[in-house]
Amino acid sequence: MATDIIGRLQLSRVINATGTVTRLGASALDSQVIAAMGAAAQLSVDMAQLQAGASQIIAQCTGAEAGVVTAGAMAGLLAGTAACLAGFDPIKMARLPDTEGMRNEFIVARSHRNSYDHGVRAAGARLVEVGLPDRLTACGVRDTEAWEIASAIGERTAGILYLARADSRPALEEVVRVAHAGGVPVLVDAAAELPPASNLRRFIEAGADLVVFSGGKGVGGPSASGILCGRRHLVASALLQQLDLDYLYADWEPPAVLIDKREFPGVPRHGIARSCKVGKEQIVGLLSALLRFTQEGDIERNRRFAAVAGALCDALGEVPGLKVRTIADAAHADMPLVAVDIAPGAAALAARLRAATPSIHVDATNADAGTLVLVPTCLRIDDAEIIAAAFAAALGKSER
Ligand SMILES: *Cc1c(COP(=O)(O)O)cnc(C)c1O
Repeated sequence: MATDIIGRLQLSRVINATGTVTRLGASALDSQVIAAMGAAAQLSVDMAQLQAGASQIIAQCTGAEAGVVTAGAMAGLLAGTAACLAGFDPIKMARLPDTEGMRNEFIVARSHRNSYDHGVRAAGARLVEVGLPDRLTACGVRDTEAWEIASAIGERTAGILYLARADSRPALEEVVRVAHAGGVPVLVDAAAELPPASNLRRFIEAGADLVVFSGGKGVGGPSASGILCGRRHLVASALLQQLDLDYLYADWEPPAVLIDKREFPGVPRHGIARSCKVGKEQIVGLLSALLRFTQEGDIERNRRFAAVAGALCDALGEVPGLKVRTIADAAHADMPLVAVDIAPGAAALAARLRAATPSIHVDATNADAGTLVLVPTCLRIDDAEIIAAAFAAALGKSER
């Protein structure tokens, strides 16, 4: 059957209790989001106009001047960096990632470096690390400080990269202050900072020039979607470097709310983010999920997850030898999680659960401390009994 591709490929079923991780396919989409994507899939639309419409919705939800849908948060980092590097210059757009002779440095606090900043480097930027995270290595109390970022800003600086986490230092407001005093923009990676819904606005309110969010994490959109929002001219530059621009100048009608064609001597060539093309299904799916995410709100969302967490506690509580409790994920609006204490052997138990049929994936980040965590975001209520049975079977094996 052309419809049952997963069955045809004979992929083993995964029950994902680790949350919206990309390696397991990220969010489980709501039926309304799926319906919106299905409807979009059958239409032909002007993609630039669709993104201009997306910009209005994203602006309403974030308070930013403009926003576009990208192929994920990392794709948003690439497109946003390309915007800071090239602006509205079509010659620079065509040269990226070659940035020789251009302003091409992005300053980043050393403690903000992570694997996803490859997206910034892929656009042609060179990362310049500053400061020392002594507080994270237990060698001191300080992290990189704003004055260190200020003194690194020079004539090669194209922007500042900022990783938004609950405990990020220095504060975003301080980084914005020194960046703007030095005349450079701040690009914020807030990929995993939703919920709380208030974070949609928080980084823009703090003065960030560009912010990226992942669509496939807390928002509940397609895995290959994300948001890039911020200042209009930067968002417009990013969009230009992402859109397919196969037009003669006379026929080119970019959306006037974002792009004034008269500022361009010709139609830019396909830009570097054209390699991170985003389809109409992803754009519509992300917008549908974003509206649902803002309408539902954190309290109602947590109530929905608490029902799953409660079912997990009930089912796992019946398994002999397990200590089960609910905990709150403080970084995500106190989303309810389930913690299972089983020292020693937590890591081995997690491995046996993964090897089971269906394969059960739990969060084993704290296995060394004897705790496995189950995240309800990608689970259904009826997964609870299957998970409890798998725990019982895996524990039984360990005793033999
Ligand atoms: C998940 C994540 C990304 C990548 O997001 P995608 O939408 O999967 O591209 C980037 N940065 C951080 C900090 C993340 O946690």
